[in-house]
Amino acid sequence: MQENGTIEQAKTVLKHYFGYAQFRPLQEEIIEKLLQQQDVLVLMPTGGGKSICYQVPALVFPGLTIVISPLIALMKDQVTALQANGIGAAYLNSTIGMDEEQWIKHECVQGRIKLLYVSPERLQTELRSFLPTLPVSLIAIDEAHCISQWGHDFRPEYTQLASLKTHFPKTPIVALTATADKTTRKDILAQLALPQANVFVASFDRPNLSLQVRSNVQKKDKMEEIRAFILARPKDSGIIYCMSRKTCEEVAADLNQTLGRQGISVGYYHAGMAPDARDTAQQDFINDRLQVMCATIAFGMGIDKSNVRWVIHYNLPRNMEGYYQEIGRAGRDGVSSDTILYFNMGDLNMLTRFAQESGQQEMNMEKLNRMRQYAEANTCRRKVLLSYFGETLEQQCNNCDVCANPRSFFDGTVLTQKALSALLRLNERVGSQMLIDVLRGSHRADILQAGYDKIKTYGAGADISNRDWQQYILQLLDQGIIEIAYDENFTLKVTDFGKTILAEKRPVQLTRPVDFTPSAKPAAKE
Ligand code: ADP
Ligand code: ZN
Repeated sequence: MQENGTIEQAKTVLKHYFGYAQFRPLQEEIIEKLLQQQDVLVLMPTGGGKSICYQVPALVFPGLTIVISPLIALMKDQVTALQANGIGAAYLNSTIGMDEEQWIKHECVQGRIKLLYVSPERLQTELRSFLPTLPVSLIAIDEAHCISQWGHDFRPEYTQLASLKTHFPKTPIVALTATADKTTRKDILAQLALPQANVFVASFDRPNLSLQVRSNVQKKDKMEEIRAFILARPKDSGIIYCMSRKTCEEVAADLNQTLGRQGISVGYYHAGMAPDARDTAQQDFINDRLQVMCATIAFGMGIDKSNVRWVIHYNLPRNMEGYYQEIGRAGRDGVSSDTILYFNMGDLNMLTRFAQESGQQEMNMEKLNRMRQYAEANTCRRKVLLSYFGETLEQQCNNCDVCANPRSFFDGTVLTQKALSALLRLNERVGSQMLIDVLRGSHRADILQAGYDKIKTYGAGADISNRDWQQYILQLLDQGIIEIAYDENFTLKVTDFGKTILAEKRPVQLTRPVDFTPSAKPAAKE
């Protein structure tokens, strides 16, 4: 084997160019494999230190390192940072002019550029003639999950990267990502044709993030809670993720109106805004001119703001990858930070519709179900979250709402019977809210008109609050006793299992809805 450099050299580079005394966990092992010319897949959470894994070997290797990255803004930041450290680096993407491109290529040929960042679109052209003429020592593929349809951020341009191994059969490839469940992981290796790759998985645990879920809070109360939450930490900056652009703007307007006088400034960010309005909003947030950002998932890719103290999900996210990444924008400096996820039936229905209408129905439904299971979990949320990423947490985390309020089970048999029998008497033609209203004996005009007040179980659940009923309906869904028909009205159906339970009067265990006060004082800082 050709000797390409030693780990000692790598340590020298780390200290000399980056000023760090030692490698973080896994960085050294990863670099060692790369120096031995082996392929590597790196799974490391955002902020874990992925860049060092290829930037250090790039400086140890004699030739050029190509870095594929999908985000133009990120590319620019990285190259600027490298240049500031005295490292020859450049990028080729759609923002580069002809002259500049000629100069960069010339510098590459002269060996003065060690790291060349290339967008995946651009790579195809450059693979035809320019890149094969260079001594390429290493290829790094950032955001590698973009190659997988199973990932949450599939980019068609990424599928072309499969040909890299053919073009450079001897060059080690390192693929890096912050989000990949087990299935995506396998898919990345298959797509990139790297069956022999060494896989390194860093812990995804972020113990400094508290995890809380609030289900079925009515809109009015939700806003009230969020205001109290922000006022309890008036100096902290945070992000509120909303499902739609409209909601972002509405929530921002509400908060500005109600909290503006207390000196709290709130902005919004979504993909429907003009590019410079978006840039301004983002810069204002990063530089603490805006304290709270109401945003869609478009916000946050590559934002390196270390002192975000909290993240609220105003709606249920589509999948666990997105959720993990979004809460991960809080507490990047390691200081205790809070996350709250709000979710209700309406979110679930809306996301179900998106999933049903998407090209990849089955997969998106599966991902949504996993998300719902997390939100409905009765065990330590961190365990559920980490198990999604293939990690096992041995102990309770003591930093989530379930650990703080262990669930208590009760005999929900009668309650379930009432709900199922009402649903059957309504010919399984109603959605959850109508079912609850009938059970609670509402005098809504449409109920009286339809004659639903005549059924036997009308008002049989009047002693249970609307919100508690919503929680129970979700639990019945989770237990497979009822299911949602994905029709226009999201009507509920009793499953065969539910029918058996009813017919055989089988016992059903439910958990009591619990409450916590999100406006409570922020946790003591570490
Ligand atoms: P990722 O790409 O995984 O999100 P980065 O590569 O941006 O993470 O690294 C996150 C932060 O950690 C950066 O500020 C980086 O300089 C720092 N970092 C990485 N490796 C080390 C190390 N060995 N020692 C100290 N700091 C490090
Ligand atoms: Zn926990």
